[in-house]
Amino acid sequence: MDGTGLPEVRSTCAYCGVGCGVLLRPDGAGGLTVRGDPDHPANYGRLCSKGLALDETVGLDHRLLAPRAFGQDTSWDDVLQLVADRFSNTIREFGPDSVAFYVSGQLLTEDYYVANKLMKGFIGSANIDTNSRLCMASTVAGHKRAFGTDTVPGTYEDLDHADLVVLVGSNLAWCHPVLYQRIMAARQARGTKIVVIDPRRTASCDQADLHLALQPGSDVALFNRLLCTIHQTGHVSAEFLERSNGFSEALELAQLDDPDETGLSPSEIEAFCDLWIGTERVVTVFSQGVNQSSSGTDKVNAILNCHLATGRIGREGMGPFSVTGQPNAMGGREVGGLANTLACHLDIENEDHRQAVKQFWNSPNIPRRQGLKAVDLFRSIEDGQIKALWIIHTNPAATMPDADRVSAAIENCPFTVVSDLTARTDTARIADVLLPAAGWAEKSGTVTNSDRTISRQRAVLRPPGQARSDWDILAEVGRRMGWEEAFNYESPAQIFREYASMTSLATSFGKDFNITELSDVGDEDYDALSPTQWPTTLGATDKRFFGDGQFFHPDGKARIVPVSHKPPKVETCAQFPFLLNTGRNRDQWHTMTRSGLSPRLSAHLSEPYVDMNPTDVDRLGLSAADLVQLDSSVGSGVFRLRISEAVAPGQVFAPIHWTGETAPSARVDALVPSVTDPISGQPESKATAVSVRRL
Ligand code: SF4
Repeated sequence: MDGTGLPEVRSTCAYCGVGCGVLLRPDGAGGLTVRGDPDHPANYGRLCSKGLALDETVGLDHRLLAPRAFGQDTSWDDVLQLVADRFSNTIREFGPDSVAFYVSGQLLTEDYYVANKLMKGFIGSANIDTNSRLCMASTVAGHKRAFGTDTVPGTYEDLDHADLVVLVGSNLAWCHPVLYQRIMAARQARGTKIVVIDPRRTASCDQADLHLALQPGSDVALFNRLLCTIHQTGHVSAEFLERSNGFSEALELAQLDDPDETGLSPSEIEAFCDLWIGTERVVTVFSQGVNQSSSGTDKVNAILNCHLATGRIGREGMGPFSVTGQPNAMGGREVGGLANTLACHLDIENEDHRQAVKQFWNSPNIPRRQGLKAVDLFRSIEDGQIKALWIIHTNPAATMPDADRVSAAIENCPFTVVSDLTARTDTARIADVLLPAAGWAEKSGTVTNSDRTISRQRAVLRPPGQARSDWDILAEVGRRMGWEEAFNYESPAQIFREYASMTSLATSFGKDFNITELSDVGDEDYDALSPTQWPTTLGATDKRFFGDGQFFHPDGKARIVPVSHKPPKVETCAQFPFLLNTGRNRDQWHTMTRSGLSPRLSAHLSEPYVDMNPTDVDRLGLSAADLVQLDSSVGSGVFRLRISEAVAPGQVFAPIHWTGETAPSARVDALVPSVTDPISGQPESKATAVSVRRL
């Protein structure tokens, strides 16, 4: 207690997939204080600048307070009936695949579960995709190819116990700062070495023993060289060779790759291979630089191949480790929030899985095939195939590649609903219906972080105006569409129990995801739920997968997947001679709808910029702070020029955060073409050919 008389409440941070625990104390007047939760296993009390400024991001200023339809405030009763009727009528006339949901890693797992159940189990379409498609779809696909299911093998503790941490396409120091702090603590305690593999010299390189500034998109060539060297030096694990298929084919293909494609010197590659092979406790952390690529799935598998071939997986201090972007990217994956998955890591193309899910939900419809992945989904809206769209807690008109085209498609969609905290997003401004949603600290449920830890988010503030929780809005639309019983939810605890119970299906089909023992958790115990890492059946001492050589393919073996180097699909040319890389700033989050409210956070890098190497600046006759226009094959943007040795000649870098609301001419995704990985459907957001000229 403090002077307010109100107790501190345990919750989790609103932002990234580290999933830090926070202690929130409401001040009784609509505000709160925040500090790190010393008992949360993700952060043990640490918070980064964004987490520490959460108190500055609550309030009424920017909020959508009442439902609106076609520009007019309306009642919940009317608007929910309107949404239910328009979706029902569209389905009746054009079939279930004429409607779609586009949701977000900002949803709590209970919200995600209800959205997925409504679309896949009752509407009968798999046209529900999520902005996680832009974040980690390549990792999901790579995990499934290698392991047979989308499993993160290790835990955050491995970062504490590693002797070498390799960061691939990850500026962990800025994007997952608390994990970076953990690695720094390990470096101090045990001398953990750090290698950064990134075309750009980022803040994560400051403490690195080795920075490999490879050519954009050449990660496969580098890890294939590592695989060859593992073989040449006799470091292949006989035990894991026995427990996997595909090594010979993968090696054969790897040997055909030219390491010169990486642009690295032979001595740099040798130094990396020596360090990686010579250090048994190695964790390879990878993030968007790997995922956001037209060969993202192959990049993921190139990394997994090296860990599988050496057996460095699922044991203390070693393994491949995907770090997720959003607070609940993992929860969405678990409940089947992607268009190509069913709930509980089950497979949409598998008839037995479909029937089991249908029976569990007692549902009338289960789609027989995958739905539209994000890029294709918005194309289908443009083509007129999708006629009713519900977008929840995300801003695709600014954040999808080819953003201007996506924005036009949404605007022309016959019926678009947006659920969000604010009406001030590019997407909300062009929607027909706006539903005021409760936000962080106002809603209750669970999230799953990057190491499979399920944590509670708890409401400590009253939702402003008429804002409601997403599960509540979705369930009521489901009931009004005629599925009374299936969506008769009264609390997130009730949804959690159903979803936990459903994980028994995953177990019965030999999948990894299992929290069945939480399926009878009472309301009070759900309220008090401590951070819980799944699977809950492995016992408290070992929460890692695959150390025993057991995988989730039907034969129990892993797959070492043959992959070969493919350059980014869009190449530079005389018209567009620079390669544009995109990413985050330290103190902002996505499109700044929350982090932009904090004066402290907004003081860091306050305007849109582009970084360019000094040799290119001189060659083009530009000067620092010039306003420059970037053009690509699909769009353009205006940015402040910064001279920076961090980017190599021929490359430029611009952050992703600005939108039509904050800087209409600097929406970086308007420049990015909608080129995708053919397996994961994830867009290539880090290799766009552009030109640069002074305005
Ligand atoms: Fe929040 Fe991520 Fe920072 Fe932790 S590291 S405080 S989860 S933004």
